[in-house]
Amino acid sequence: MRLFQKWPRIRLPGFHACGLCTATVPTPPLWLTERLALFEELWAAQVKKSTNMAQKEHRTIKISLPGGQKMNALAWSTTPYQLAWQISSTLANTAVAAEVNGELYDLVRPLETDSDVRFLTFESPEGKAVFWHSSTRVLGAAAEQLLGAVLCQGPSTEGGFYHDFFLGKGRSVQGSELPVLEKICQELIAAAHPFRRLEASRDQLLQLFREEYARRGFSEVKTPTLFSTKLWEQSGHWEHYREDMFSLQLPGSDRPPSFPGDHSSGHQAHTTLALKPMNCPAHCLMFAHRPRSWRELPLRLADFGALHRAEASGSLGGLTRLRCFQQDDAHIFCALDQLESEIRDALDFLRAVYAQLGFSFRLALSTRPSGFLGESHLWDHAEQVLHQALEEFGEPWDLRPEDGAFYGPKIDVHLQDALGRPHQCGTIQLDFQLPLRFGLQYKGHKGALERPVLIHRAVLGSVERMLGVLVESCGGKWPLWLSPFQVVVIPVGPEQEEYAREVQQCLQATGLSGDLDADSGLTLSRRVRRAQLAHYNFQFVVGQKEQSKRTVNIRTRDNRRLGERSLTEAVGRLLELQNTRVPNAEEMF
Ligand code: ZN
Repeated sequence: MRLFQKWPRIRLPGFHACGLCTATVPTPPLWLTERLALFEELWAAQVKKSTNMAQKEHRTIKISLPGGQKMNALAWSTTPYQLAWQISSTLANTAVAAEVNGELYDLVRPLETDSDVRFLTFESPEGKAVFWHSSTRVLGAAAEQLLGAVLCQGPSTEGGFYHDFFLGKGRSVQGSELPVLEKICQELIAAAHPFRRLEASRDQLLQLFREEYARRGFSEVKTPTLFSTKLWEQSGHWEHYREDMFSLQLPGSDRPPSFPGDHSSGHQAHTTLALKPMNCPAHCLMFAHRPRSWRELPLRLADFGALHRAEASGSLGGLTRLRCFQQDDAHIFCALDQLESEIRDALDFLRAVYAQLGFSFRLALSTRPSGFLGESHLWDHAEQVLHQALEEFGEPWDLRPEDGAFYGPKIDVHLQDALGRPHQCGTIQLDFQLPLRFGLQYKGHKGALERPVLIHRAVLGSVERMLGVLVESCGGKWPLWLSPFQVVVIPVGPEQEEYAREVQQCLQATGLSGDLDADSGLTLSRRVRRAQLAHYNFQFVVGQKEQSKRTVNIRTRDNRRLGERSLTEAVGRLLELQNTRVPNAEEMF
């Protein structure tokens, strides 16, 4: 496994009283000392390999630069940094990385073959990304040092960088700790530690980070499985969304995405949407595990368990690679004469959910393909039932002849997102084959065994993809009931931080998501502005007056001032607005 990022060499200057600030920094834990020793060992092996390659393949390679300039270099020896020096000292001093045959190289990684080389400076978006990616490593090192943080992801973003830490359950970064963190960062930068890129095998990585894994509460990492959700690569809001909503996800856990430091908020939209994950064969087995009678039909099965995949933490990213993904595929086993009412109910349910989410949709009926399985008269009946149900439903629909699955006709639901792009989400699909394959039977009215029809019914489709469509349509401004950023509590000064925490706990105790912005390095108005940019539905500002009266001063994300309310009243009203799922809680408050 190759690490594509600059690898931090975390040799921290002085695990002792920090020279620049008054904080006392703890002595290095044993695991960190061990990790650094192992890193050195692996590094020495890599250098040796490189040297051997350079001796073995002692040959000249050709370098092409933008603009047609050509240079010669030595395979496995010349680095982009050396080339930069040959071109100009300015370039050597401003380059942050190089693109070598389309791949990102750090400046001291030896070139291996003939190469097209392009230097990246901070002026380019790619250069900024590299610089900020390195910056996030500095921040991570400081957090490990000062807070004993378990490092989660720390990517660069369009406008900077961030880093997620896990500090232990219930612990979050205090506003007063931010200046100290910053000072440690400055010290690390001043010490000019080199970034070194190490190629390591999976086992070596596990060895290097075994402490991290242990602290995250699991002992074994399975082979990473990669899968992606294309939508997220296209989505215009995805960066913002990923940063804001999933930045708090703790990678490396077998549990559902969990959010360190009591920040359960990011989980909210996801769990709120996660209705019923699927498992068609499992539901068939449940049907089959004992004799069934017509009295039990229609039998509707859906379960709430999530589908989890063990992904190595390094392979997780936003919504493109998730440990937890879900499909709300429910299964209805019914008699043929119950088909019509079940389809009608399913359509009604679909409409109710989409109306709640504010989506417009269009339905399509797909009929039997040329290679269909099963009996023609069953197909005739089923297609007629679906046709009839759609007519009665009263929404516009399209006919797609021969577009059904081989095992049954279906109704697909196409949503439109904010940009008018269609997404296929829900589906109501008849299945004559699965009941046959599983030998499903029930005792009919007259005592004879009959075969049920299976309806696969997904309303959201993939929950993650539905979230993507939602992001598009609300542009980050989630309705309160779905919002991962419902309330941020902002103390006016450090004296109110304790009361602000109390307010936060009060919100969280009722299941509302409450964050705290006690960053004493920023003025109140900057923090209010920041909360609005993050689209928190509500801001609770608490100053001295609010603290003494046990009230909160409320503003909306559109900067409407709702004024002072008692804490109890405010929380009660929020709960009410959440539970009634109104689309415009800010106006109705
Ligand atoms: Zn299914």
